Amino acid sequence: MIAFMERFLPANDTEVNPEDEDTTNRSLCLSLELQGSVDFICTGLACKDFGGIYYKKPLAIIKPAGPEDVVRVIKAASLSSNLTVAARGNGHSIRGQAMADRGLVIDMRSMDTLIHVVATYGSTASAAYVDVGGGVLWEDLLRRCVLGFGLAPRSWTDYLGLTVGGTLSNAGVSGQAFRYGPQTSNVTELEVVTGKGEILVCSENQNPELFFSVLGGLGQFGIITRARILLQKAPDMIRWIRVVYTEFEEFAKDAERLVSQDLEGESFDYVEGFAFVNSDDPVNGWPTVPLLLDQRFDPTSIPPNAGPVLYCLELALHHHIHDSSTTLDKVVGQMLRPLRYCRNLRFEVSVTYMEFLLRVKQVEEAAKASGIWDAPHPWLNLFVSKRDIVDFDRIVFKNILRDGIGGPMLVYPLRRSKWDIRTSEVLPEGGGEEIFYLIALLRFNQSERGRAVVEEDVAQNEEILRSCRENGLDLKQYLPHYTTKDEWKRHFGKKWSRFVERKAYFDPLALLSPGQSIFSRIR
Ligand code: FAD
Repeated sequence: MIAFMERFLPANDTEVNPEDEDTTNRSLCLSLELQGSVDFICTGLACKDFGGIYYKKPLAIIKPAGPEDVVRVIKAASLSSNLTVAARGNGHSIRGQAMADRGLVIDMRSMDTLIHVVATYGSTASAAYVDVGGGVLWEDLLRRCVLGFGLAPRSWTDYLGLTVGGTLSNAGVSGQAFRYGPQTSNVTELEVVTGKGEILVCSENQNPELFFSVLGGLGQFGIITRARILLQKAPDMIRWIRVVYTEFEEFAKDAERLVSQDLEGESFDYVEGFAFVNSDDPVNGWPTVPLLLDQRFDPTSIPPNAGPVLYCLELALHHHIHDSSTTLDKVVGQMLRPLRYCRNLRFEVSVTYMEFLLRVKQVEEAAKASGIWDAPHPWLNLFVSKRDIVDFDRIVFKNILRDGIGGPMLVYPLRRSKWDIRTSEVLPEGGGEEIFYLIALLRFNQSERGRAVVEEDVAQNEEILRSCRENGLDLKQYLPHYTTKDEWKRHFGKKWSRFVERKAYFDPLALLSPGQSIFSRIR
């Protein structure tokens, strides 16, 4: 074990000629008898990710036909002296997490056909689940479950162009997580190919150590080839609401109260929030709040003493297509009455359930047309303890980010009891308090603004982390990125030694997911 820990990055034992190694490894790949395919011309997608900051060229891209191909690839890599293996979901990481420099990238999207819904119809659909391939996109799963069966997973991400295996390797959070926990809390079984090349089915009762390692495990222990995900009855419609606050404390108290009332049918079904700039800036300010083009944000409703940043609570309520709008207006009115938002700054719309869950798809299409989807995205995601969230607002939103970031600045509460401490996920300690916050700084830049802007954004992220550290704020990075052993150790805290033990057991040569830069390949 100690020897294993000493093999933490960076490695210093590369005396061998890299070209010779690549030639040997290429022959190894050619000898693989795959049902799928191997491609050595690795350009475009294989070398980059959504972040657009890191570029790493793999030796080959493998398109597996099934889990047996994944086994073949892992076994072949273990025969070489230096090959690593990265599962690539949809490459929506920010910092090269799904890349493998001169290694083998497994394109999980090539195994995206498995979606098998098992439905036991009843009033609650509580026994329904779907068996889904690790490379399936959540948006495809949504369409199949809702259109085919009137069912849907319970916990989502905001954007659904992500794979099942990719989000389960992190957590997967959105406005439903306060009630159902992250996506990792809604999986009952996995099929995994471990770093030793074994195909294992795991769950809470069968191979539990592997099951909990892999959930939130940053791809370190095995490759998820199938997941069993709980389903519920899909609602027809969503009443989608945004209300505006000038005071962070009031916004936070109301949001916390709403996520603490988690009884289905008696409270909102989705709770999120975001900070925005108190100005008419079209990208960062008032115009980002209304839900429809004909809704107008009336700035005269903002008190003159309001600060540089305002807050928007975003809520959704499931409803039936036949519910009368008068009755629904009444119910929503009653639920909103105790909240302390600015009375004239409330925006509402009813949309179908699919339209709501696919809302970011529309943003994606517009962003692709304007070029900002394909430009670099130096994003930063954090979990901040409730104890420190007011200080975070003061130091970060009201100060460092008072002019905005060119994209959404999400801030909303989550509940610790909905997360399973046995997984590899890491949350701020927060004195064990039930509530903690998700912060997502989702920067979008015009591509023509160039690398200098990306560097400025990265530097601003570092300034945020430094300021939080200097002020003693209790937080953890979500979708973490570190480059040194000490940083990873600090990140995992009490979970570090277990993480290392699990790695040594399930991936003893440290073949898997090298782009996370946690362990180095054992030669
Ligand atoms: P990749 O980026 O391809 O891979 C991520 C990591 O998982 C890599 O280490 C990879 O090796 C590993 N991996 C991938 N597939 C597997 C597998 N089958 N088995 C084992 N390991 C695997 N996150 C949220 O929680 N909530 C959100 O609302 C949200 N919105 C987002 C919106 C956008 C536009 C983007 C770009 C990201 C968003 N994310 C969100 C973050 C997202 O969940 C993660 O980046 C996720 O990893 C992306 O999934 P992917 O399929 O692209 O994974």
